[in-house]
Amino acid sequence: MLMHKIIQSDPEIWNLFTSKEEYNNLHRDQYERFPYYASKNRNIFEPLVSQYLINHNFRVEFPGNAPFAVCLTHDIDTIYKPLIYKGIDMLLALKKGDANNFFILLKQIQSKKNPFCNFSNIMNLEKKYGAKSTFFVLAETQEEPDFQYNIEDINKELGEIIENKWEIGLHGGSSVYLDAHMMMAKKKVLEKLIHKEIIGYRSHFLQFHTPDTWVALSKAGFKYDTTFGYADCAGFRNGICHPFKPYNLNTDQEINILEIPLILMDCTLGLYMELDEDKKWELIKGLIERVAECRGIFTILWHNTFMSGSQFELYEKILAYCYKKNAWMTNCEEIYYWFQNYY
Ligand SMILES: [Zn+2]
Repeated sequence: MLMHKIIQSDPEIWNLFTSKEEYNNLHRDQYERFPYYASKNRNIFEPLVSQYLINHNFRVEFPGNAPFAVCLTHDIDTIYKPLIYKGIDMLLALKKGDANNFFILLKQIQSKKNPFCNFSNIMNLEKKYGAKSTFFVLAETQEEPDFQYNIEDINKELGEIIENKWEIGLHGGSSVYLDAHMMMAKKKVLEKLIHKEIIGYRSHFLQFHTPDTWVALSKAGFKYDTTFGYADCAGFRNGICHPFKPYNLNTDQEINILEIPLILMDCTLGLYMELDEDKKWELIKGLIERVAECRGIFTILWHNTFMSGSQFELYEKILAYCYKKNAWMTNCEEIYYWFQNYY
């Protein structure tokens, strides 16, 4: 692969790209993840590998001559707002004398309609900016630890996503991310439900072992993964903001899967990095600049539960900002097929 050949000419860049430090490293957080705080790379906000590639004549073109791309994704961890919260909302509405809101909430409970089932709102927002996205859905059973909802309960909504030509991928739980058979089984369940091939994967909680998760995904027939990023810090985990074929240092072989590296997860900014609104925006703008300089891809994960108040405003601000910069804003599937021309 041309990309590997270029990177291999610099041992330090190659070590960063292959995440050598993660091999035989037993440091793990509570979700069995290798965390940023254990990494020796202190240039997380600099895509050093992509910069190296660009300096060595690696050039990527995008549709419509766009200067860079934005890959939009949503992990659907929950679709039910707990009844207790709805009950509290109803009491508050009564207290305020807001009969209208009270009856809306009551109707939602009676019809089991859910405010987190906001997929069509998300699609309409993205349409406004000429963008589209990928929804990663869990296919866990009630006996499994990460069970959150029955996938059949959102059958209608999934149909709408497919009809609109947005994408659905598999969101694998903790019993899945190292097990090719489980991956394959979940993939089949989802494919049967939506009558369409599933080519993409992201782990719940971004659970990932280098290189084992890639190897398992490749065995299970997935074409791309987009888990590879840190939960505890935004930025470039292995210094790259271009999709890449991972390299297995245990076998000295390329792994047959495309990684679309994750640069930014919504909850990382507040929960892990504890940034205020101004600092969040400053960081995001900086990351977008770095990606644009390399003609790379800015991959974002925005949960469906982050689509209200200031969290929603920040998502729309990113869309509006990148739209103005003429970025190609699309989903993983389109990026995967586009990059078939390159690799
Ligand atoms: Zn998740």
